[in-house]
Amino acid sequence: MRVLILGAGPAGMTAAQSLRELAPSRSLQPDITIVSGEPFPPYSPPAMADHFLTGREQSLYWLGKDICHRLGADYRAGTEAQAFDPDRRRVVLDDGTELDYDKLVIASGSRLYAPVEGYELPGVYNFKSLTAARELVEHARRGEVRSALIVGAGFIGVEVALLLSSLGLDVTMIQRRWVMPRMLDTETASLVLHELQRRGITVLENTEAVRFVGDERVAGVELGDGQTATADACVAATGVKPNVDYLAQSGLDIGWGVRVDNRLRTNLPDVWAAGDVAETRDRLTGARFVHAIWPNARAQGAVVARDMLGYAANYEGAERMNSMKHLDLPIVAVGEAEGERELRWRRGDQLRKIFLTDGRIVGFRLAGDIRGAGAYRALMLRGSDLSGFGDDILDPRFGIARCAGVVGV
Ligand SMILES: Cc1cc2nc3c(=O)[nH]c(=O)nc-3n(C[C@H](O)[C@H](O)[C@H](O)COP(=O)(O)OP(=O)(O)OC[C@H]3O[C@@H](n4cnc5c(N)ncnc54)[C@H](O)[C@@H]3O)c2cc1C
Repeated sequence: MRVLILGAGPAGMTAAQSLRELAPSRSLQPDITIVSGEPFPPYSPPAMADHFLTGREQSLYWLGKDICHRLGADYRAGTEAQAFDPDRRRVVLDDGTELDYDKLVIASGSRLYAPVEGYELPGVYNFKSLTAARELVEHARRGEVRSALIVGAGFIGVEVALLLSSLGLDVTMIQRRWVMPRMLDTETASLVLHELQRRGITVLENTEAVRFVGDERVAGVELGDGQTATADACVAATGVKPNVDYLAQSGLDIGWGVRVDNRLRTNLPDVWAAGDVAETRDRLTGARFVHAIWPNARAQGAVVARDMLGYAANYEGAERMNSMKHLDLPIVAVGEAEGERELRWRRGDQLRKIFLTDGRIVGFRLAGDIRGAGAYRALMLRGSDLSGFGDDILDPRFGIARCAGVVGV
């Protein structure tokens, strides 16, 4: 069996590892080919910032640089799939190579989504891939850029701001609403804002970036009030979008991402999709969504391998969760950022917010003290009815005790 995996991120690599681990016998081991658009060994995007700060490679190349060799996989790095013909079961790469397959895994991840005019101007950087991030950091290291404007203060924007500020750049962020609006409610976001400001980062909230301006090279960003902000470099951190362009003529069912069923099969035979490229069901709400986070990519890669090998495979659904690790303040955000009822406890920089609907946790945000996060998540996923417990739920010991069956049984 020839398995072709498009993408060497956590989704594709987990699928490859799981295939090797689960194949029932040596003779049934598939031939695995992995295609990666970038000329590096498989790497971890969340580890990029730390790598640039410390030079460490261990967490960047999270599986070891020789992982494809160890897996006995044919690794084609630095070339992208350009077209895919499901009738002939063939993928054409941009270097002209044609690869035939029996089973195909689409794990091509996501790329920068920049709905801001002028983002393609030279000098507009992004941090969505190791190639792009390296270019930006090398300019900064060579002293060619001393100031940066970052459009977007979402998760990646904040990570880039912290990195560039640590490298000595004067950093300004432009954000339409508040910091990390998709992840945090305004009160939790205000703690992040404070941390950014404490490090000398300027954040322009409630500010629209209308377009990147410049002739041959970007010179700045035109703002909603007609003014133009300028800096040596601009960074687009405006979101991510599934890498699906090359699949347009394939007959695949594509919405925002590649649509898959609960076994992560696409509408085409012997074709699966996993990770940031796949539009799956939200575990809590059942709605179709692309939750572009690492744990979802890993879990989906494993489900694809199980299903391909004929084991029972049922994907429980993607989760919405994130944590901030580069601020001095730990923050965990899980599920929805609002509910019918909001429980709140705050002491200084320590903030706990739990959102409930119909007596059940639908989301929570913890800052400063993140104890109990795992237990709250378990209660949320179980759909435990907590109607009778009021503010006791805010005590981190509550969730743990309740999960252990101590409270309210
Ligand atoms: C800076 C940054 C920080 C992050 N921090 C966190 C974090 O702290 N926690 C968290 O949960 N998530 C984080 N994420 C998100 C997380 O990295 C992604 O959700 C995860 O990497 C998705 O895995 P994937 O395998 O689907 O795609 P990716 O990791 O994007 O990998 C996609 C692969 O597909 C290849 N590819 C693309 N197009 C093609 C093509 N046409 N043909 C063949 N190959 C192709 C690429 O070269 C790459 O190998 C972060 C992301 C970034 C960018």
